[in-house]
Amino acid sequence: MSETTQDTAEDDVERRVALVTGGSRGIGRAIVVALARRGLTVVINYRSDQAAAESLRAELAEAGHTVTLARADVSDRGEVKAMFKALRRDHGRLDVLINCAGVLHEGLFMFTPADRFWEVLRTNLGGVEACCRAAIPSLSRRRDGRIVNIASIAAIHATAGLSAYAASKAAVIALSQVLARELAGIGVRVNVVAPGLVETDMTAGMVDETARERALSQQPIPRIGRPEEVANLVTYLALDAPDYMTGTVQRIDGGAMIGG
Ligand code: NAP
Repeated sequence: MSETTQDTAEDDVERRVALVTGGSRGIGRAIVVALARRGLTVVINYRSDQAAAESLRAELAEAGHTVTLARADVSDRGEVKAMFKALRRDHGRLDVLINCAGVLHEGLFMFTPADRFWEVLRTNLGGVEACCRAAIPSLSRRRDGRIVNIASIAAIHATAGLSAYAASKAAVIALSQVLARELAGIGVRVNVVAPGLVETDMTAGMVDETARERALSQQPIPRIGRPEEVANLVTYLALDAPDYMTGTVQRIDGGAMIGG
């Protein structure tokens, strides 16, 4: 690519607007930082931890990046609609949607109350459904939209104690692949990132620490992943991946699922 063409491509990137759900902490936070550093305007969605969201916004603003906050519970359709309305009003466009908001419930299926089961589904699957639905009109406007949904290797590898979480993430993969087919013709690419264990509050709070350590020790790369490593992959899919790439599921798991 000539220098001028590359400059033009980077200029175009700098006009883009991205929404990262669950962007205040953990993997979402690392994605916000990575996209902001590439020059995008980033909207950070969060649900409850205003202090974490505000401190991230301040840190990035200090470094000269444009980031805004959007509080909304992605499991609440009304709040999602209001968030997108405000986003369209304030930014006038949306180019990249990263669905990262998620919750984990650990416990055998028989001891998981139905309410808790469906609460996990409402956030992890319902949030992706509501945000994709609200975002598609804007993403298709320039026929160059990108959706990256964060699933998990738990969707592929059955793990006792993760029934609701695994079901939600498997459904996210299925929904993403159908959307990849349906939206290809209007220029929207949809890909999935399926991480293994990554060092965040979510894994720090896991009850079965022994199982976690055993799983890590059996990986070809026997350590926990870093949020920044997942963010690099997400940024690639959101900005740099070939236009020909859609409907893929990218594992990033220290090799845990090789051959699986
Ligand atoms: P985390 O550290 O617990 O952070 C979760 C984020 O999601 C927070 O920003 C939280 O916002 C937000 N969130 C949760 N429920 C929400 C809701 N209803 N509406 C809006 N935001 C909501 O989790 P993480 O480990 O970074 O996980 C991020 C994603 O990666 C999740 O989808 C998770 O399933 C997936 N994943 C994680 C791992 C791992 O090992 N960590 C592995 C595979 C996949 P508030 O703090 O404001 O509530």
